[in-house]
Amino acid sequence: MITLGIDIGSTTSKCVLMKDGSEILTYSLRIGGLGTEGPEEALEELWDKTEYTPDQVDRTIVTGYGRNKYEGADGEVSELTCHALGGRFVFPEMRTLIDIGGQDAKIISLSESGRMSNFVMNDKCAAGTGRFLDVMANILRMDIDELDECAAKSENPASISSTCTVFAESEVISQLANGVSRPDLVAGICESVASRVSALARRAGVVPQVCMSGGVAKNNAVRNALAKSLETEIDTDPMAQYFGAIGAALYGYRQLQKNKDNK
Ligand code: ADP
Repeated sequence: MITLGIDIGSTTSKCVLMKDGSEILTYSLRIGGLGTEGPEEALEELWDKTEYTPDQVDRTIVTGYGRNKYEGADGEVSELTCHALGGRFVFPEMRTLIDIGGQDAKIISLSESGRMSNFVMNDKCAAGTGRFLDVMANILRMDIDELDECAAKSENPASISSTCTVFAESEVISQLANGVSRPDLVAGICESVASRVSALARRAGVVPQVCMSGGVAKNNAVRNALAKSLETEIDTDPMAQYFGAIGAALYGYRQLQKNKDNK
């Protein structure tokens, strides 16, 4: 059985094509989430990358911030369910998932059997989300994927004391004007995101295995600072930004299985 998972995020659209709920056939990502052409472009890219064709798909499930507005799927499922499912597909022992996306951060706690037992979310404030990194990268005229390497060169991470993104933006500009080095500033920015998210994680409770997902999982400086603050190892995977889409494809497969069993 072939299932398709589409995750329409606040900033990025991700697609995953799966076979029999066990094999990832192909995947695609396009910047542009809700209200953009992102989902269509990501799908176009997906079909370009595979021999499979849309008419071979048995079920399509959409998730993410923009799921309610998307027509063309067979069903929609919450991001929390999909992230938990997708995370467990990659990390079967995962008990805590820290997901930092473009506009929110979520901590999902799972029982030993993989059921979601708790979650805490910040979707009210840009600090502690990818948005904070996007804004700061823009000020520093850097690409988002350059932050990580730059932070690694820091000897003395700058302290960013403002808890609001708008004030932190002014703080970074003035520290830059005062000669604070870019690596120190970038390291301070990454630590600031980590400190916000670690407070959230403590509220949810941190049980190993702890994993990180979402676009910000690609930033090792944030992940390392989080691991230090929470005094735990945090695992991630090159597919971490796709956990939601993987979960959606898996959900579709489980629905098909259930329908088959009920016949
Ligand atoms: P959403 O589902 O809300 O669109 P994602 O989980 O796809 O969010 O993550 C998007 C965010 O990931 C962007 O806002 C960006 O800040 C961040 N991001 C993407 N690539 C990187 C990278 N290489 N390093 C750090 N952050 C990144």
